[in-house]
Amino acid sequence: MNDNVGATTTLARSVLGDISRGVSELLRYECEFGETEWTRGPVSNVVGLAQEKPSISDRQGERGRSQQLESVDRGDFQLLTPENVKKTPPVQRQDGRSSTQIEPIRTDLFRNVPRGLDGLNVIREELGDCRRCKLHSGRTNLVFGVGNPNAELMFVGEGPGADEDIQGIPFVGKAGQLLTRQIAAMGYVREDVYIANIVKCRPPNNRDPEHDERLACGPYVLGQIRAVSPKVIVALGRVATQALLETTAPIGTLRGKWFTHPHIPVQIMPTYHPAALLRADNLRRYVWEDLKQVMAYLGKPIPGR
Ligand code: SF4
Repeated sequence: MNDNVGATTTLARSVLGDISRGVSELLRYECEFGETEWTRGPVSNVVGLAQEKPSISDRQGERGRSQQLESVDRGDFQLLTPENVKKTPPVQRQDGRSSTQIEPIRTDLFRNVPRGLDGLNVIREELGDCRRCKLHSGRTNLVFGVGNPNAELMFVGEGPGADEDIQGIPFVGKAGQLLTRQIAAMGYVREDVYIANIVKCRPPNNRDPEHDERLACGPYVLGQIRAVSPKVIVALGRVATQALLETTAPIGTLRGKWFTHPHIPVQIMPTYHPAALLRADNLRRYVWEDLKQVMAYLGKPIPGR
């Protein structure tokens, strides 16, 4: 009898210890990202990863994908557990590409671009007063990129928002301020890293960039990647991740995993976009896990280890 009581007490202590360590980790993360308030939204009891709603058909196109992102932004997503993971194999298309692969952008434009600032200047000059896609008509400023031209770490988002369009600098709005805190939590300042977007002009009403716009602008971010030559790219959100990896696979299944860029030997870590985190607090812990993987890869000290 006494043995049973002792075993139960030990087990209870162990469980309480696990819970305590989990809460401590969460608090530490909140402090590291500069978050001081416990904010809205359910905290998931997820076992695995967060997953977007099931993928949409091609016929639904960009409109459906916008709705899909909105559902993630609202925190209205399915949780991926071992039980509900769909193991449907990708459908092979007639051109031999997987159904999750998308048409690649031109990769030859800046193949031999110089490294660092010289290369970035070449690309910026080539863009000029760009009118290669319809996004040019609604922009205030073309938002090229900012940061260290020789950075070891690069962040790539989807496109400028209202604040970025006005200032001509990527990630300066609320989402950008959160990104700046994330960068600080990783042990960098913004000037240490390089930040760019898939498209350089603001899509109207912050809609997703359309396929033709990504094809038109894609070679320039590819050139920026070649010029900066980072060791790691953090792909921020679904649009950037899908564009860089040339896939339609959902961000929930891609985030937290390492990929190699299809055309450039650089490691890519997809994670959720800071704008999504502003609406769905329960995604933040996943982003911190993803960023810690990047820190470990780059040899940065990880707090608490
Ligand atoms: S989004 Fe890119 S390709 Fe389109 S107009 Fe702007 S800079 Fe040119």
